[in-house]
Amino acid sequence: MTGFSAGVELDATYHMHTYARKPARFVRGMGVRLFDEDGREYLDFVSGIGAVSVGHADTAVAEAVSRQMQLLVHVSNLFYVEGRAELAATLVEMTGWPVEGDGPAARVFFCNSGTEASEGAIKLARRWAAANKPGAFRIVTAEGSFHGRTLAALAATAQASKQDAFRPLPEGFDHVPLNDLEALEAAITSETCAVFLEPIQGEGGVWPCDPEYLHAVRRLCDERNVLLMLDEVQTGFYRTGTAFAHQGYGVTPDVMTLAKGIANGLPMGAIVARTSVADCFIPGDHGSTFGGGPVLCAAALATIDRLRAKGLGANAVTVGAHLRDALTALARQTGRITEVRGTGLMVGISLSEPVAAAVTARALDRGVVLNNVGDSIIRFLPPLVCTVSDVDAMMVVLSETLEEVWPT
Ligand SMILES: *Cc1c(COP(=O)(O)O)cnc(C)c1O
Repeated sequence: MTGFSAGVELDATYHMHTYARKPARFVRGMGVRLFDEDGREYLDFVSGIGAVSVGHADTAVAEAVSRQMQLLVHVSNLFYVEGRAELAATLVEMTGWPVEGDGPAARVFFCNSGTEASEGAIKLARRWAAANKPGAFRIVTAEGSFHGRTLAALAATAQASKQDAFRPLPEGFDHVPLNDLEALEAAITSETCAVFLEPIQGEGGVWPCDPEYLHAVRRLCDERNVLLMLDEVQTGFYRTGTAFAHQGYGVTPDVMTLAKGIANGLPMGAIVARTSVADCFIPGDHGSTFGGGPVLCAAALATIDRLRAKGLGANAVTVGAHLRDALTALARQTGRITEVRGTGLMVGISLSEPVAAAVTARALDRGVVLNNVGDSIIRFLPPLVCTVSDVDAMMVVLSETLEEVWPT
């Protein structure tokens, strides 16, 4: 315990106070489980915010990474390296997008995080407009969205609480309510180059685009000569069942951004754009020192291999349906859950009282790691290796915790 409190104190002293950290110190993980320094076991329904897609300490990913670490760690994007092209080709193949002319369906740019993928996509949209829609630079995003913390991504993130202290933000971002087609129609002008949406808003509290809305947005973007860019940073890599959430909707974007689940917890991001859009970037337009480095590419290739070999998309569908059924039953039984939302293993519930933080704190005490979004939403993002019995074990703790926090 002394080690733990000393560590907490050191953290409070030397790390910037940008996070309200939870009172647990994990030292080891395995699959859906985490272990603290006393050897206590926890069920992890956060997975490093949807990043650890194939589970903690996956041996195939660990072996791929350590093999590459001993061969070559970094040479920059000035050179070809092992794995980068193979990963790009794999991502394009996973999209299933139609090929364009003689070229591939899409091309990929690698960066290091979700926010960098947003920044790159924003730059790409402006670059596309310079060639295809002169004078257009504005991007429409949805209220409650989350696209990252760097300044342009933050300007795209339509949440005043995250933006206000940092104004002025880069200009050119318009915000509309999600699932309101008329508002979007009104917001698109001759100056608009792109609409940028999460298929399911994650950090905002698991708010899905209605399927009819997303289809209508696609048509509207085509009519108005505007790019449709989807932020799949949280929804990508089989989180919702399909490789990317837009496939479940049957809507193909022009540009998609990826990160979180791509390399099982190692930091990597990517922009995937259909070829004629991707080709608006020319040498010198965009870059990254670390992006698409050999170790990250090895990790991502191993992660994708695991996701596919273990059928984790199908698992996300089955186990996700079981999770939503269990939450719906608990909602009926307690009257304390007002809504169950989400697809696959990206699920959120709204509580009828603002006790979400108390629920997640108690659940942690009882060995279940959950995430609250604001005061009244709880989000479930387990590793995709999560099983029905993991869900059942979590549900026992959740229902007991709800009862404790909020006695009948
Ligand atoms: C987490 C997230 C981001 C930002 O990713 P970082 O890697 O934290 O920069 C962007 N968009 C969405 C949808 C996210 O969930």
